Amino acid sequence: MLVVRTVQELRAALAERGTELVVGLVPTMGALHEGHLSLVRHARAENDLVVMSIFVNPMQFNEAADLDSYPRQEQEDVALAQRAGVDIVFAPSAEEMYPQGFATLVRVNGPLAETLEGYHRGPAHFDGMATIVSKLLIAVGPDSAYFGQKDAQQLVVVRRMVADLRIPTRIVGCPTLRDADGLAISSRNVRLSAGDRRRALAIPRSLAAVEAAVARGERDTASLRSFAEGMLEGEDIDVEYVAFVDPATLEPKGSINAPVLCAIAAHVGDVRLIDNVVLQSNAKEAADAEDDDSAVARKEGGP
Ligand code: AMP
Repeated sequence: MLVVRTVQELRAALAERGTELVVGLVPTMGALHEGHLSLVRHARAENDLVVMSIFVNPMQFNEAADLDSYPRQEQEDVALAQRAGVDIVFAPSAEEMYPQGFATLVRVNGPLAETLEGYHRGPAHFDGMATIVSKLLIAVGPDSAYFGQKDAQQLVVVRRMVADLRIPTRIVGCPTLRDADGLAISSRNVRLSAGDRRRALAIPRSLAAVEAAVARGERDTASLRSFAEGMLEGEDIDVEYVAFVDPATLEPKGSINAPVLCAIAAHVGDVRLIDNVVLQSNAKEAADAEDDDSAVARKEGGP
């Protein structure tokens, strides 16, 4: 595995491997965990060559303290990337990505980037994300790029940007990886105290409870929201939002009559966590059908 620091070195390394290879890119901010490695596994299965970028992008942090406390562990990351089957790690400096006099911005306008994370973290967050992801896509020129559903809005914004700029890269969304206790894996989890980590479990628990309520036939998102907020606040979690939106347009939804993204952002202690689930409008019908199936199976002597 090769580690390169500049776009020039990266392009030379890619050219040397051959232009006919199918290339996958996994963009990360490092502090690698199983969630990142699951993206690598997806990329490994679909490409000849896998590039991982590791760059803590200062432009997308709205708080200096969050940027300063973001975990950095490059040596460990390089070893993990190598074990996972990455071919090239691109780990540039801030000066490489933002050269002297840098003055270019890639901005996705409108509700896609201005609601939820964009509203709460400020417009600079998605400006920074879209700018760096477009720079990475231009630098690598991958056939496919892999992003986690954990950052559902990021995925929607990237898809819009790639379509608008006609960037010839397929954007692949990968499922959220969770620890055994249900907490979505995040680089920020290491900053949770043992007690806060236990309290944070109310986030996946409330998402699961919302899912179960939808499966029982609840369709009203206002009721679902107060239900989830009650569970979170019961654990003293400081809720930033519990949102029910269209998974593609991010427009608010009053009722679950089609797939709806339920997204949560909350502070547990001084750590900000996000998580989400896509609620299926036919969940009750599916659950009823499953009940019928198992009733039939029981009758027929099945499980
Ligand atoms: P980050 O390093 O936090 O910017 O994340 C890099 C990529 O990994 C993003 O596409 C994230 O959505 C994805 N990712 C982060 N956590 C997870 C997870 N638990 N499961 C799947 N993908 C994840």
